[in-house]
Amino acid sequence: MASSTSVCNSVVQDRIFHAEAAPRCKKLVWNAYREELPVRSLLLAKGIIENDTCPCCGKGNETTMHALLQCEEVKTIWFGSPLGLRVETMHDINTVSEWIHECVALLDKRAMGIVCVIMWALWHRRNVWVLRQKKLGFPEVMAKACSMFFPDEWIPPLYPHVKANFSAFVQDNVGTAMGVVYRDSTGAPLASATNFMEKECFEVEIAEALCYRWALERAGELCFCDVIFETDCQELYSHWNEIMKEKGNIETCYLDSLLEDCRIMLRWTRSSLTLVGWGGNKVARNIALEAFVYGERVWTEDVMDEASHFVLADATNLQNQI
Ligand SMILES: [Zn+2]
Repeated sequence: MASSTSVCNSVVQDRIFHAEAAPRCKKLVWNAYREELPVRSLLLAKGIIENDTCPCCGKGNETTMHALLQCEEVKTIWFGSPLGLRVETMHDINTVSEWIHECVALLDKRAMGIVCVIMWALWHRRNVWVLRQKKLGFPEVMAKACSMFFPDEWIPPLYPHVKANFSAFVQDNVGTAMGVVYRDSTGAPLASATNFMEKECFEVEIAEALCYRWALERAGELCFCDVIFETDCQELYSHWNEIMKEKGNIETCYLDSLLEDCRIMLRWTRSSLTLVGWGGNKVARNIALEAFVYGERVWTEDVMDEASHFVLADATNLQNQI
């Protein structure tokens, strides 16, 4: 029979892994919950180091609780975050595990996502300080956290923007299938399309980048401007941000050159690329799966029958939130 602790732990694990955040952030929170982060007090206990003073403030012992909640600047960051958390008021919380327990009991998956990305960004800040002696300020920490947060449901664009969700699938020895759906602020489809590259089997990131470029080309042909492109591929999104940061041409591989093409196509527009969870990209994922059957095709003001109930589900979800 499972003990009550293990049952409890599995609930905590489940809540953490359903939070609206990048997987690496959720993994960090799970490690923090299990007191497995290599903080100095842990390294001291293992006999690896002889002093567990916090490397950031030099004032306390670096426990997980200190590193992620109680270090002076960390407290300021939590207070300035969207959660407005005042660590000083958490009198009955003694460990990070206790606090995470409390969070999963009280917060929905969006707020829990914010907790995960901030904890991850704080740990990143601490490591940048330890390894590179570089101090990241509040704006840098929050920007890092924001880049790791993504919703798990479809959120409409603000009028008059168009949102384009896209996705690609690669099936070995069969080919690469792509799908895109363009929707307006009410959730209504303006167009959708499929594409199929027979016998062309790419790495996932390459397939997603090819799909992004194809979705950009289709948007141009359909005369959509100010498009928010949305992917659920974390690797593509991270790589895109790297490309956007570089001013010069950094084409060192095929993925870079594909994304450079996309950057050129986006120049002079107000279009952008954002990241969403699988739940927010389910229409595109389903369209892409059907691309193996449909091949190259465009639907105007519509989607294929197989994806229509997913479009309806997103729109209904929208209405329920109003
Ligand atoms: Zn400290």
